[in-house]
Amino acid sequence: MITRTRTKIVATLGPATCEIGAIRRLAQAGADVFRINFSHGDNEHRKELLDNIRAVEADMRRPLCIMGDLCGPKIRVRKITGGAVLLGEGQEIAIQGQDILGTATRISTTLEELAQQVEAGQLMLLDDGKIRLEIVEVISGDEILCRVTQGGILSESKGVNLPGTKLKISAITEKDRADVEWIAARDFDYVALSFVQVADDVIELRRLLDAAGCHAGIVAKIERPRAIENIDAIVDAADAVMVARGDLGVEMDLPAVPIAQKRIARLCRLKGKPCIIATQMLESMTTLPTPTRAEVSDVANAVQDLADAVMLSGETAVGRHPSAAVKMMDRIAAEMQSYHDQDRAIGPIQVIGAPQTVASLAKAVQEITATQPIAAIAAFTITGSTARILSKQRPRCPILGISPELAVVRQMCLYYGVQSMQAGLVEHTTDVLELAAKFAIEQGVAEPGDNIIVISGRPLGKTGVTNTLVIHTIR
Ligand code: PGA
Ligand code: MN
Repeated sequence: MITRTRTKIVATLGPATCEIGAIRRLAQAGADVFRINFSHGDNEHRKELLDNIRAVEADMRRPLCIMGDLCGPKIRVRKITGGAVLLGEGQEIAIQGQDILGTATRISTTLEELAQQVEAGQLMLLDDGKIRLEIVEVISGDEILCRVTQGGILSESKGVNLPGTKLKISAITEKDRADVEWIAARDFDYVALSFVQVADDVIELRRLLDAAGCHAGIVAKIERPRAIENIDAIVDAADAVMVARGDLGVEMDLPAVPIAQKRIARLCRLKGKPCIIATQMLESMTTLPTPTRAEVSDVANAVQDLADAVMLSGETAVGRHPSAAVKMMDRIAAEMQSYHDQDRAIGPIQVIGAPQTVASLAKAVQEITATQPIAAIAAFTITGSTARILSKQRPRCPILGISPELAVVRQMCLYYGVQSMQAGLVEHTTDVLELAAKFAIEQGVAEPGDNIIVISGRPLGKTGVTNTLVIHTIR
C-alpha cells in the first residue's frame, strides 16, 4: 500500500527553483501546489516557470497545481543608493511621495499618496517589522518626517506596513489588473489575492476573472486585521483561504496570530473551504539543512489546527535546501497523521453552504469510516465540490477525486486527503464501481477484498445530482 501524506504542501518557486530538475525534485519530495509570486521577477520568467511545472506534471503523470500570487496593495521601499542603508535608532528620516534614489535620511515608497493618508503619532514598520518608525510630522501632502525607534539595515524593495492606519487603497492595483489579464490567458489553477480587507475585494477579482473567461479559484490571503473582522463574508466569497502569517504578524499583535490561525482554519472547515497556513514554517532551512524544534512543532500543530495545506516561501524560493525543506515538511505532516486520525475530537460535521445532500453524505462517510475498515473513498465529481466537502470531514482514509475536467483535477490538489485523477464520464452505474476500484488499486490505496466507499450522482454525468453512497467490496 502507498500512503500519501494527506496534508498538502505549497512550495513557492524562485531563483533557487526555476529549472525543471529543481521543480521535479520538489514534486518528488511531496509538493502538490506551486506558488508563482507576482511581486518579483517578470512575465518572461513566470512563463518559463509555468512551462517547467507543466513539463514535470506530464513527465510524472501526476496532476500539479499552480497558484499565481498577486502583489496587491503591498507598499514597498523604492530603490536605495548602494541597495541598502543603515538607519540608527533616534535619527530622523523623511519619506516623500515622488520616486527618488533613497539615502539614510530620505526615502520614497511605492505609495505616492502616503503623506495624505497618515497622521503624526502613527507607527510605520519596515522589513516585516524589523525596523520601526514613528511618524513625527506630516510636512506636506507629499512628505512626512519620521523618527527611527528601532534601527537596522534597510534594503531597497522591503515591505512597509502601517498597522494602525485605514489606508484608502484598492485591493486590486493597476499592476494586479495587468497580472490578472496575463494569468487569465494561461493555465493557472488559483489566483491568490494579497491584503484582502472585505469580501468585495474577492468579488471584484472574481468579476475580473469571469470577464476574462478564467475559471481559476481565488485564494483570499488573510494578512490584515480588517480581514479578520470580516472573515465570515471573506471565507464565503473565496474558494480557499491563506493564513498569511508574515504580514499578519506585523499588522496585528504577534502573540495573537496563533489564535487567529486556529479560528480561521476552523471556520474554513465549517464552511467547506481549503485553508493554507503560510510563512516561516521551516524558516531556518533557508540556510540550514535541519529545522528548529519549534519549526517542526509549528508544522505538526498546523495539521492539528485543521490546515489543508502548509506552505513554504523563502525556504524553496531562495533557500539552499529547497527539496529537503519539502521532504521535511512532508515527513512532519505524515508523522502527525496517525495522531490526528485518532483524535476523537475531530468528529463529523455538517458543512454549511454546501448542497444539503452532499453535506449529509459527507457526514455519513465520516461516521462509516470511523466504525468500519474502509480503504478509500472515491468521489465522482464534475466541479470538485463533493471531494472538497468530503475532505473537510478529515476522514481516516484517502479520498479519490475523479473528474472529467483537468482544471478541476488540478484544483483538487489543494484539498486535504484528496488524490485527484481525470476520467471521462461513465455511462452505467456498475462502471462507476469498477472504475473506482480500478483507481483505488492503481493509486496503491486498496487491494482486492477491501471495502471502498463510492460517492456519485444519478443521472450520471450531470452536475449537482450527487445522491448515491455505495460501500463496495473490491473483487
Ligand atoms: P507573501 O504572503 O509571502 O506574499 O507576503 C504571505 C504572508 O504574508 O505571510
Ligand atoms: Mn504577505
